[in-house]
Amino acid sequence: MTTGQWFVDYAGTRWFFDSGSLALDFGYTGDYGYGRPEWERLHQPGDLTAWLTERFGELAGPATSAQFRAACELRTAITRIATALADDAAPDPEAIDLINHAAAAADLAPVLAGGTEPAPMPTVPRALATIARDGVRVFSAGPERIRHCGADDCALIFYDSSRPNARRWCSMQRCGNRTKVRTHRSHRKEHTP
Ligand SMILES: [Zn+2]
Repeated sequence: MTTGQWFVDYAGTRWFFDSGSLALDFGYTGDYGYGRPEWERLHQPGDLTAWLTERFGELAGPATSAQFRAACELRTAITRIATALADDAAPDPEAIDLINHAAAAADLAPVLAGGTEPAPMPTVPRALATIARDGVRVFSAGPERIRHCGADDCALIFYDSSRPNARRWCSMQRCGNRTKVRTHRSHRKEHTP
């Protein structure tokens, strides 16, 4: 499954942040516990329906208020566990309970094209279970795979799926190049009499 989504920075520039994981992408539909209401993307059930549709295709029905609340709770659990692992702290056991519970529900079924009737469409509960299972998968990989961006002034968290586990930046375009330019400048300063 492809991961990542578009962000808009303070200067109004659109940039693509691939967290490396469906669950972490879902976490970044909110403020990640930073108390920044302007980062919230899921204001109402319709916003959840739209986000899930973008990922999984047309849904069998729109998200209900109860499903929306469940999704927000799942998201909080995901961001709390991700933050703890990125900070080399122990995740909150209650957040783990919540994600385990959500992952135990039936997830999205794989679909083979070419049948005589339309394949069953994705439902909100199954989509949320798929997100929760992805969370279990990436968090099980351990804290060495869940990291903050390497830039001093960027706290974004990603899952490193690369074999050498060598990813450093939220985005090479955004933080990687910026940090390299700065390092280059400071080196030049040191070497200038
Ligand atoms: Zn960054």
